[in-house]
Amino acid sequence: MILTFEFKLRGSKKAKLEIKNQKLIVFSAPSGSGKTTIVKHLVKKFPNLGFSISACTRDKRGRIEENGKDYYFLTPDDFRHRIENHEFVEWEEVYEGAFYGTLKSEVERIWSIGKVAIFDVDVKGGLSLKEYYKEKALTIFVKVPSVEELKDRLKGRGTESDDSISRRMFKVKFEMGFQDQFDYILLNDDLEKTLLTAEKIVDEFLNS
Ligand code: ADP
Ligand code: 5GP
Repeated sequence: MILTFEFKLRGSKKAKLEIKNQKLIVFSAPSGSGKTTIVKHLVKKFPNLGFSISACTRDKRGRIEENGKDYYFLTPDDFRHRIENHEFVEWEEVYEGAFYGTLKSEVERIWSIGKVAIFDVDVKGGLSLKEYYKEKALTIFVKVPSVEELKDRLKGRGTESDDSISRRMFKVKFEMGFQDQFDYILLNDDLEKTLLTAEKIVDEFLNS
């Protein structure tokens, strides 16, 4: 798909800017399913994918995360102000008091450099992105073999307090109820196999 925009340069001549590949790939699942692992792998594998950096109000995970790379870490006031300014494509209070959202400027940033945007968002956010961008978006639900396995992975990641794990586990069944509304359900059992399947799905979509 190619869109052509005309805009005026400082003088008065019009310039044409072609934006190709206005597509997005969305990974959603309950926390701990492996979205981040899969998305990071795909971004390394496909240079024309650009990771959509979400805004959020939760605390940064110590030295593991960087502001402007993993998330834009905002204060609740700043986040609220941006909601009022209609700066988000979608936003959710994913956990009580923890807001996450996709900024319109972020999708535009990625498309303006000719890349396809790839997302790691919660289940409701993934469905909102599909509703907004329709056929431009490919949505993938990452499924784990069992709820017990999900809990083990969350614990094993070592980033969450017991309280945070409980809050995340509380939503799992609710989130799993939406899986059939996604374009693909990707079972993340054996990681190596999952990554290969994910590559295949992405490759097909990029070439469609
Ligand atoms: P999410 O982004 O969905 O919260 P992560 O990508 O952070 O999930 O994965 C949660 C934890 O599970 C991480 O420690 C990750 O290394 C591990 N993990 C991911 N996929 C698998 C898998 N197939 N088998 C075992 N552990 C996995
Ligand atoms: P975490 O705190 O583990 O980084 O993320 C918690 C949850 O928020 C995950 O399910 C993650 O995918 C989701 N999330 C991250 N960014 C966004 C976003 O921009 N919008 C929505 N709706 N969810 C997001």
